[in-house]
Amino acid sequence: MGLESCGSSLTLTVHRGTRQIGGCCIEIAHPAGDRIILDAGRPLDAPEGATGLLPASLDLTRPATILISHPHQDHWGLIEELPPNWPIWTGSGSAKLIAITADITRQKLTRAIHTWHSRSRPIAIGSFTITPILTDHSAFDAYMLLVESAGKRILYTGDFRRHGRKSVLVDRMMANPPPHIDVLVTEGTNLGQDKPVTTEDELELEFVELFKRTKGRVFVAWSAQNIDRTVTLYRAAKRTSRTLVIDLYTADVLDRISAGTRVPRAGFPNLKVVVTRALRRFYRKVGRDDFVVKMAPHGLAARHLVRDRQVIMLRRSLIADYQSAGVIPTPDDAFNFSMWHGYLSEPDIAEVLEWCRAAGAELAYIHTSGHASPADLRAFAAAICPRVTVPVHGVKWDEESQGFGTIRRLADGEPMVIT
Ligand SMILES: [Zn+2]
Ligand SMILES: [Zn+2]
Repeated sequence: MGLESCGSSLTLTVHRGTRQIGGCCIEIAHPAGDRIILDAGRPLDAPEGATGLLPASLDLTRPATILISHPHQDHWGLIEELPPNWPIWTGSGSAKLIAITADITRQKLTRAIHTWHSRSRPIAIGSFTITPILTDHSAFDAYMLLVESAGKRILYTGDFRRHGRKSVLVDRMMANPPPHIDVLVTEGTNLGQDKPVTTEDELELEFVELFKRTKGRVFVAWSAQNIDRTVTLYRAAKRTSRTLVIDLYTADVLDRISAGTRVPRAGFPNLKVVVTRALRRFYRKVGRDDFVVKMAPHGLAARHLVRDRQVIMLRRSLIADYQSAGVIPTPDDAFNFSMWHGYLSEPDIAEVLEWCRAAGAELAYIHTSGHASPADLRAFAAAICPRVTVPVHGVKWDEESQGFGTIRRLADGEPMVIT
């Protein structure tokens, strides 16, 4: 559809994401030609190292500005493939986490990223006014994006939930919704699942129980960038007089994002950083020896992970250093997997699980989703009351579209004129 036929209306095109979770890329075009792109995500099923992954329908020959909703790779992972003259924006915390991920995965990040702050006011970009709205998600510094232009208002949810440590933000938004939304572009990750969601506060109680009943150490696998979960584990450790032991990478994440927040970090009581050989070597290699030196006063060597009152971060890359220091699970210990269960089939995770299972440690699964439950997705859409809902970031939209008002089911790359 040419611009001429759009008259004075905005055109919304979901280049990728109408029938999959992740890889999001949504364009909003003004009739005068300005464009903004919400997210430039890497598809979750893309092979490691694969390039050339931008959606074919995205026109790279005309200018555009990119807005990244949050620092998960399925929302920002293709930014290096974008034309170098396209400006990129995201939240300030989000920009830091993107940089950390690029560092640890040795991806070169050549792009400058403009940032907004969590309490930021609307930003003017060409013919668009963008209001980033801080929200609740398993990623730190995640935003919904309100886009206003040509007399139309579009709300993009990004990824969100209503049961994490920032759920009050979503509750408040539902109680006082932005008025007159023409189009709600909403995620639907958890559609088709009737499993009840647990809040982070409830998880904290479950962890307290596990930490109490375990005689020995508790090994936990979780994502270093899931700050809500780090907070939950830290609180549960403190309540049971245990010490939470994180690795250098997790300490790096907390060190970079925690300024001005109450997020636990190195130097807090009941928190230690295990300084392992492989990660120490990594930080030396990337010229960040100073970071390891900074962590030293709060650090401990792997051979000290023998005391009973510890909750110890576990990932496959730590096992070799733990083993050579004599840290081996025992039947008195427990292992908790605190990530999406789908990862259990990945070789890295399977190895971690097997390491603990073979030792006879108790195996537990205490986790909650980073995404809204189907009931919360529907309640949110009802509160926003848009003229039209455009589904993205889900695989069950065709079966589960009831309760979202008027749905416009687009195909990837199909332009929709907002009249
Ligand atoms: Zn996502
Ligand atoms: Zn996400």
